[in-house]
Amino acid sequence: MKFLLLLAIVLLLVWLWRSGRRANSSADQPDRPASPPGPQEMVRCAHCGVHLPHGDAVVGRVGLYCSPEHRQLAEP
Ligand SMILES: [Zn+2]
Repeated sequence: MKFLLLLAIVLLLVWLWRSGRRANSSADQPDRPASPPGPQEMVRCAHCGVHLPHGDAVVGRVGLYCSPEHRQLAEP
């Protein structure tokens, strides 16, 4: 009978240990560990009207352009 009690205690400890580990691991790893980069801001070329990411736009005096050629055409 002592053996069964000891087995029950060991099983209880293992269950507690595993449930505690699961809680810790879920706390360490959030649902989105590496969030992907968000949507880029899109801008409109002031000359031809094409939409492009703000990072690829060419900055002119009046506005943003899709290429240096369009900036030169719009701002001679
Ligand atoms: Zn353009």
